[in-house]
Amino acid sequence: MSKKFVVAVDGPAGTGKSTATKRISKLLGLIHVDTGALYRGIAYLATEAGFGLDFDESDHAAIAKIAQKAKFEFQRIPGKNPSNRLFVNGNDVTGLIRTPDMSMMASRVSAVPGVRAALKDLQRSLGLSSPSILEGRDIGTVIFPDADIKFFLTADIDARAKRRLDELEAQGGDIPSFEELREQIRARDEGDSTRAIAPLRKAEGAIEIDTTTLTLDQVVESMVAMIKERAGL
Ligand code: C5P
Repeated sequence: MSKKFVVAVDGPAGTGKSTATKRISKLLGLIHVDTGALYRGIAYLATEAGFGLDFDESDHAAIAKIAQKAKFEFQRIPGKNPSNRLFVNGNDVTGLIRTPDMSMMASRVSAVPGVRAALKDLQRSLGLSSPSILEGRDIGTVIFPDADIKFFLTADIDARAKRRLDELEAQGGDIPSFEELREQIRARDEGDSTRAIAPLRKAEGAIEIDTTTLTLDQVVESMVAMIKERAGL
């Protein structure tokens, strides 16, 4: 695969994007970049700095500054679960950024133009360092409009809420009800799809896969086949 081969995967929460892209990265030897984790990292820093979900436009400059100064590092630490860890400004935040509250805060900070600008170059350089697969909301539209192949995953909202509930149950800790989770996902979809900058939408030329009734194996198999064909493998 050529050095600059880029796979872009976008779609709303709970479509199986993360699990599928992780598997595909292992099967094809691609670097996996979970761009949502970067927005979650900024959400964590903004929360630590005292901002809540009710921040407004007058806070945008301060939150953008937090993003500009943030240092991210992905590290693999065997024996830890998960072994792929995210360090933000030197702190391992992996276990702190996957809560429903951090999901909502990530969605809020991701609508701040200065935050998106601060993360853009980092995402591009991660993607160009080796053949890679990036997952997020605007990979095919903004970060890599020139990606070699683009996917847009969808699934109906009940299936997505059920998957998130299963994930949170596996993680342990406080677990919201199915209805609460469904409402949070709906609100996040709405925020992500209607924001003024880089809204979630299917990129031109993206291959849409509705994962509602598909197993993870089926999703991975069809994506791998299409990537291989595109890469001439
Ligand atoms: O993918 P994940 O659910 O971890 O992303 C958390 C939030 O980060 C999303 O709801 C979205 O608001 C934001 N995000 C984004 N652009 C990306 C990835 C994530 O705006 N490329």
